[in-house]
Order: sequence, then C-alpha cells, then structure tokens
Amino acid sequence: RAKEQGQSRFKVFNKRMREEALRLLTIETDLRRAVERQEMRLHYQPVVALEDGGLHGVEALLRWTRTEGGDISPAEFVPVAEDTGLITSIGAFALEEVCLQLSRWNEAGLPQPGVVHVNISGRQFMQPGLPYAVEMLLDRTGTDPRALRFEVTESVLMRHGSQAITVMAQLRDLGIRLCLDDFGTGYSSLGYLKRLPVDSIKIDRSFVAGLEHDRDGQAIVRSIVSLGLHLGLEIVAEGVETPTQAEILASLGCRYAQGFLYAPPVSADDLAAMLGAAPFPSTGGGVFAGGSV
Ligand code: C2E
Ligand code: MG
Ligand code: MG
Ligand code: MG
Repeated sequence: RAKEQGQSRFKVFNKRMREEALRLLTIETDLRRAVERQEMRLHYQPVVALEDGGLHGVEALLRWTRTEGGDISPAEFVPVAEDTGLITSIGAFALEEVCLQLSRWNEAGLPQPGVVHVNISGRQFMQPGLPYAVEMLLDRTGTDPRALRFEVTESVLMRHGSQAITVMAQLRDLGIRLCLDDFGTGYSSLGYLKRLPVDSIKIDRSFVAGLEHDRDGQAIVRSIVSLGLHLGLEIVAEGVETPTQAEILASLGCRYAQGFLYAPPVSADDLAAMLGAAPFPSTGGGVFAGGSV
C-alpha cells in the first residue's frame, strides 16, 4: 500500500514537472517572439515621500501582453528571460525606453518624475561592456545620468562578488545612482553594505507586509532602517498598502515608500496626468494624520 502510494505520488510529481517544463518552454518561445515584435511596454510606479506625499521618483516595470494568453507578470517571465539569456535584449529595451520616455516628457514640457528606477537583472548587469553600452545610450538619447537609478538585488553580489562591485563603481562614475532591491531577502550579512557603492536600499515587500501584526516584523524593519540611515542611504519601502504601514515606516525613520496605497504601476501617459495632480497621501499633517500606530 505504501509502495502504491509512493508510486502514485511519483506519477503526480512527474506530471507536474512535465507541465511546468512545458509552461516554461511556451513562455520562452513566446518571449523570443515578443522581443522581435516589440510587444513589451513599461509602466511606472510612483515612489512617494512619506512626510508630505510628494513624488520622489518612479520605478519602471516591464509589462507584457501575450498575443494569446493575456498579461503575464514579470515575476514569471523575467526569470525565464534570465535563464535563456533573452534578458539582455529585454533589459536593453527597458533601459532605452526609459531614456526615450524621459526625453518625450521633456519635449512635451512636462515636469520630470524625479529619479527613474530601472531594474537590472544579474545577467544583464554582468554582461561584458555594460557600463560602456550605457554610456553610449546616455549620449545618444541625451539623458542626464542623474535621472537614473539602477536597481540590483543582493543575489548579483553574492554570485559575482567583487566583479559586480567593479561594475557598480563604473556605473556610479558615469553619474548613475544605485539601489539594492528587495533588501533583506538575500542571505548576505548586513555589514557588507558599507562596502557597496549604492546610495539607497529598498526594503522588501515581505517585511512591510509583516509590519502591522507582528513584532518581529517591526524589529527587522527597524534594524534595516537604522543601519541604512547610519550609512547615509536613502531608504524606500516597497509594497506599502495601508496607511498604518506608512505611519509605522515613517515613525521608524523611513522616508520614502512605494505601493498600492499610493498608486499601482501605470502607463507613461497616466503618469504624466498624475504629475500635475495633487500630492499622494502623507503621514505628516496630511490625509492620514491622526492615524494611530
Ligand atoms: P521588484 O523590482 O521588486 O518590483 C516591485 C513589484 O511589486 C512589482 O511587481 C510591483 O508591481 C509590485 N508592487 C508594487 N506595489 C505593490 C503593493 O503595494 N502590493 C503588492 N502586492 N505588490 C506591489 P511586478 O511589476 O510584477 O514586477 C515583479 C518583478 O519583476 C520586479 O520586482 C523585478 O524583479 C522584475 N522586473 C520588472 N520589470 C523589470 C525590468 O525591466 N527588468 C528586470 N530585470 N526585472 C524586472
Ligand atoms: Mg525593483
Ligand atoms: Mg520585492
Ligand atoms: Mg523590489
């Protein structure tokens, strides 16, 4: 009986693995076509100053609508793109599109949306000649490097160590700022942050989600914020969904936030409309003043 159960479990496992492999293969095939047909777009999510609700910047996020099968999240296709190497052309597209969008806003006489965060995957980051290619792109599109901030995750550093730090330094020499994304989810020690040429960190959504109900969650965020402040880093909390989370973050000394509480990622046109509108909710004397922590 035990053996029978074991076998049927094995079959289920096998079937799931086959389905998963097939799914990834389909994404890969579609992804290749998507790159050729330029089916990708970028959306932009506001990064807001907690104190006054002012727009501090935006994060560019890839959006892909498959001709068959509808929208598919970058959380799903970026890892496939990374594995297959397609990420280098997708990443190049995203970066170029951000630069072109900045000049479109500029030409339309719109205010710049502050610093634009661009996610750079590990493979793209470690691609030989990336800093040079970026320099050429900035030149060609007339982009001010100070308008850009590249987001990388700790995994790049863990995998590529000092080589990654060299690339970071080269990018920073170009005038591009750097942010450590999903901070706290890697397994690296907090101490090494000091050695990195980053000027900001993003507290991962999973820690923000734990802020309201669990004391450990608050303790973790408190220590990330205090470490970051000591090192003179700008700290952005991601995935802020409730006023209470915003209040707690502000009380812990975090100054910037991003999340559905303020706005989801939106198209470039929708963002442009937002730029002229009223500030976002704030913790300091604004809409949410008086909210208890
Ligand atoms: P990320 O860089 O950590 O981006 C934040 C993700 O959280 C985005 O998911 C965003 O839509 C989502 N988010 C924002 N606010 C909230 C909130 O309040 N609640 C919840 N539950 N989620 C929120 P998205 O757009 O699906 O992107 C997922 C990941 O895909 C990104 O995580 C990033 O790692 C990757 N990605 C997206 N665009 C690019 C890109 O252009 N290049 C590269 N290499 N990776 C990208
Ligand atoms: Mg990011
Ligand atoms: Mg995250
Ligand atoms: Mg993130």
